[in-house]
Amino acid sequence: MTNKKAIVVGLGPAGAAALRRLEELGVDSLGIERKSVPGKPVVCGEYIPEADEISFITRYSSLRKAYNYIGLAPKLCRSNRIEVDINGEYILDLSIKGYTIDRAKMIENLLEGTYHILGDAVRKVIYENNVFRIMTKEGREFTAKYIIAADGSPSFVAQSLGIGWLWNSYDVAIGVNVRMYTPSMPQDAIFMYISPRYTPGGYAWIIPRGNYLSNVGVGIRLNYIQNGVNPVSLLKDIIRINPRGYLTNAKTKGKILGRWIPVGGVRNSLTYCNVIFVGDAAGMVNPINGGGIPTAMASGIIAAEAIYREDISLFEKRIKEEIKPAIDIGLSYRRIVDFAYNNWWVTKIMLNIVPKRLATKILKGEPTFLSSILK
Ligand SMILES: Cc1cc2nc3c(=O)[nH]c(=O)nc-3n(C[C@H](O)[C@H](O)[C@H](O)COP(=O)(O)OP(=O)(O)OC[C@H]3O[C@@H](n4cnc5c(N)ncnc54)[C@H](O)[C@@H]3O)c2cc1C
Repeated sequence: MTNKKAIVVGLGPAGAAALRRLEELGVDSLGIERKSVPGKPVVCGEYIPEADEISFITRYSSLRKAYNYIGLAPKLCRSNRIEVDINGEYILDLSIKGYTIDRAKMIENLLEGTYHILGDAVRKVIYENNVFRIMTKEGREFTAKYIIAADGSPSFVAQSLGIGWLWNSYDVAIGVNVRMYTPSMPQDAIFMYISPRYTPGGYAWIIPRGNYLSNVGVGIRLNYIQNGVNPVSLLKDIIRINPRGYLTNAKTKGKILGRWIPVGGVRNSLTYCNVIFVGDAAGMVNPINGGGIPTAMASGIIAAEAIYREDISLFEKRIKEEIKPAIDIGLSYRRIVDFAYNNWWVTKIMLNIVPKRLATKILKGEPTFLSSILK
C-alpha cells in the first residue's frame, strides 16, 4: 500500500491546479482521475473572462495564480462582447472581454510532471487512526494524511465518508452542451439566450472556440427539471428556433452531454477531518453566470498551500476572504433572476430602465449598490 501526504481525488480544473501547486511546493502527492483522458469529453463552455474584467476577485493571489495556470491553455478564440438576447424581444450588447480555452489541454499541461493515475476511480474512502485509506475500482489502495476532494458535484468522497449533502433543487442546475460547427456565429462575441419558455431559470449559450466551431448549450435549474422540463429537448428546440440566425447551417459535431452545476453558493462546511473540498465539490461556481473554472482552480491552489503549511483552517479563512464574497454576490443577483423568471411582465419593464453598465456588472457578478441592498 502506497502512502502519500496528500491525495487529490478528481483531476478537473480544481484537482489539476491543486496537484500542480502541491508539486511546486514539494509536497509528496498523488492525483487520481477516473477518466483516462482528463477533461474529455468536454462538457463546458470553456469561456474565461479576462482577468481585468473581474478585478474585484482577480486581485487576490489565489485567483492571480489560477489565471497563470489558465495561461497554460491554448487560447482558441477571443471575444470582446457578450450579446444577451432576452426572449427575442431585447438585445443587450455588453462589452466584456474574454476568451475560450482548450480546457482538456490546460489540464494536460497542468498535470505534466505531477504523479497521477488516470482511468481509475476512487471507490471507497475510510478515515481511521488519523489516516485516510483510499481504495480504487482497479483494486489499488493508498493511505494519506490529507485528501483534496476535487471530484465535482455531487462529491463522491463526501458520500463515501457519510457526509454527502443534498442540494436544494433551486441550487443545482444541469448544464448540457454540444460541440457544433456554426458558420453563422460571429467570432468576436459570446451569445446568451434567456427565455421563460426555452431556458427556465437559466440561460443558453453559443461560445465560439475558433474555426467556426462553438460550444452550444443550456443550463436549467433542477426544480424545473423536476417539473418535467427536459434540458436535452430544450437544447434541441433552441437549435431549431435558431435565435438571431446564429445557428443557420450549423451542424452538431458530437453528442449532447450534461453535468451538474452547483449554483447555491459555497458549501457551509468546506473541510472534514483532513479532507478539503474544492471546486464544484464545494460549490465554488458563480451562481449568476455559472462560471466556475477560475474559482475552482483558485480553491485548489489555496487547498494545496494550506496542506503545505499543515494548517487546513487556513483554507476556510482564505476562501472566506478571496472567493466566497464574490460568489455570495452572484447568489444575491441570482435571486433577482429568479424573481424575473417568475414575474416576466416586471422583467419587461425593468429591461427598459436598467442601465447597460449595471447589467454588465450584474452579469459579471461585480459588487454594486444592488448587491449591498440584497445582502
Ligand atoms: C455545460 C457546462 C458549461 C460550463 N461552462 C463554463 C464556462 O464556460 N466557463 C466556466 O468558467 N465554467 C463553466 N462551467 C463550470 C465549470 O465547468 C466547473 O465549475 C468546473 O469544471 C469545476 O471544476 P472541478 O475540477 O471542480 O470539477 P469537474 O470539472 O467536475 O472535475 C471533477 C473531476 O473529478 C473526476 N471524478 C469524479 N469522481 C471521481 C472519483 N470517484 N474518482 C476519481 N475521479 C473522479 C471527474 O471525472 C472529473 O474529471 C460549465 C459547466 C457545465 C456543466
